[in-house]
Amino acid sequence: KTIQEQQMKIVRNMRRIRYKIAVISTKGGVGKSFVTASLAAALAAEGRRVGVFDADISGPSVHKMLGLNTGMGMPSQLDGTVKPVEVPPGIKVASIGLLLPMDEVPLIWRGAIKTSAIRELLAYVDWGELDYLLIDLPPGTGDEVLTITQIIPNITGFLVVTIPSEIAKSVVKKAVSFAKRIEAPVIGIVENMSYFRCSDGSIHYIFGRGAAEEIASQYGIELLGKIPIDPAIREANDRGKIFFLENPKSEASKEFLKIARRI
Ligand code: ADP
Repeated sequence: KTIQEQQMKIVRNMRRIRYKIAVISTKGGVGKSFVTASLAAALAAEGRRVGVFDADISGPSVHKMLGLNTGMGMPSQLDGTVKPVEVPPGIKVASIGLLLPMDEVPLIWRGAIKTSAIRELLAYVDWGELDYLLIDLPPGTGDEVLTITQIIPNITGFLVVTIPSEIAKSVVKKAVSFAKRIEAPVIGIVENMSYFRCSDGSIHYIFGRGAAEEIASQYGIELLGKIPIDPAIREANDRGKIFFLENPKSEASKEFLKIARRI
């Protein structure tokens, strides 16, 4: 199949999705996949039709944070399309991670092959009608991320995930100039690992404090929410459980609901 034919299919599929939000970070390990998964769960809890596309081909992990196993596959249909896997309460997930045999097999693909895998998935996954598609990008703002975001037509905007110690390092500036290149706005910043609340109630700003507000106002970008450090988050993710559903009353989950209502 030619790239043009695939691109036409992608355009057709993406037309049925109202908001396409690309989740970006400037480095790995800041919780981008966790934020994507939690936001998807919060949007679904708010009654939105939501899909999650894992575009992090080299390190797909968002499917696991949504309770799915590597290698479980995606159901193919007679017309040659593939259905996303549906997770209660109605989150549709498509990821190369579902198609890989197991976690231990590293994907050592060159850029061009990764890009064509992304294109193929976007052309053949039948999302149906969605309100939101959250796209979990690979970490960084390099060429690979640029290529991926250029494949997806009319991205509504970028959601920047960062941690306090990173935010001062022109993370926002980088994200803004990246978004400009593909002519989409930055919807807002989610600051993850903002603070830790001790059992005695005291708050500790492990990675620093205050920069997010300052930089958000400097760039005229909304600081959508601050997610605390919570050992229950790491623990739920490691067990392959959806943190938001297991801990609906937690500070983090309340914050995700707030963000879901604002995007
Ligand atoms: P990224 O996608 O940016 O590489 P992940 O979402 O994979 O980052 O998160 C990295 C690790 O940090 C995971 O083990 C995750 O469970 C953990 N984590 C993310 N956010 C938090 C948080 N707010 N509190 C505790 N652990 C977190």
